[in-house]
Amino acid sequence: MIRLHVPTPLSADAAVLPTLDQSRYLTQVMRLKLGDSLLAFNGRDGEWRCIIAEILKKGVVLRAEELVRPQAMGPDVQLLIAVVKKSALEFAVEKATELGARRVGLVVTHRTQVQHVRMDRLDAIAIEAAEQTGRLDVPMIDEPVKLADLLDGWEAGRRLMFCDETGGAPAAAALAEAGGGPWTIMIGPEGGFSPEERERLRALPFTTAVSLGPRILRADTAAIAALTLWQAAVGDWDR
Ligand code: SAH
Repeated sequence: MIRLHVPTPLSADAAVLPTLDQSRYLTQVMRLKLGDSLLAFNGRDGEWRCIIAEILKKGVVLRAEELVRPQAMGPDVQLLIAVVKKSALEFAVEKATELGARRVGLVVTHRTQVQHVRMDRLDAIAIEAAEQTGRLDVPMIDEPVKLADLLDGWEAGRRLMFCDETGGAPAAAALAEAGGGPWTIMIGPEGGFSPEERERLRALPFTTAVSLGPRILRADTAAIAALTLWQAAVGDWDR
């Protein structure tokens, strides 16, 4: 069944207004008719079976019929990835959403090539990936922030899986030993972290510096590998 992320609240009998693009997708691409069913979620109210209640020029109106799954969140794992080139960043956001990252932050590091990031595009990618992957929330994508500022404002109790291409503990064993709870995975830019950044990251009490093997991975590949290892070691892949 079609799954749509909608901007409006969902409750029994609520009228739900998809965006214009979504309306066109439903009626013109998928050829849904009045009374046809689809699933809708908004990241807050769970997943609802809705029917097409009205087809108007300015879009369709859905009606929420029944709660199919109550709202639930996956484990608390965030991805912090350096701003890398557009295609790699978009790929990383899509895959991080599929792999269950709760939030994705963009980091500006010493070696980040300064460039414009289309946040609206990344949000749209996250929404589409969440729709197809069956999750009930869409990861928030945070605007680029300087690494030093992120570390200064670090949330108490959150651990950092620092992916260090110059070497670290084998990731799977290090994660299993460190255990569950809120985690953030940190991935550097194409040029890697500077020696000063690496030193600061490694010295933090909440850091676990890990290796992702003897090969240097591109940032987007490293993000996927790290999330996979995290999910398998301390995430929800045992459920
Ligand atoms: N230019 C760097 C590589 C950067 S790869 C160099 O040649 O040394 C981009 C990021 O992916 C790194 O900063 C790191 O966070 C992650 N990464 C890539 N390969 C890795 C590995 N084998 N182990 C741990 N992290 C890795």
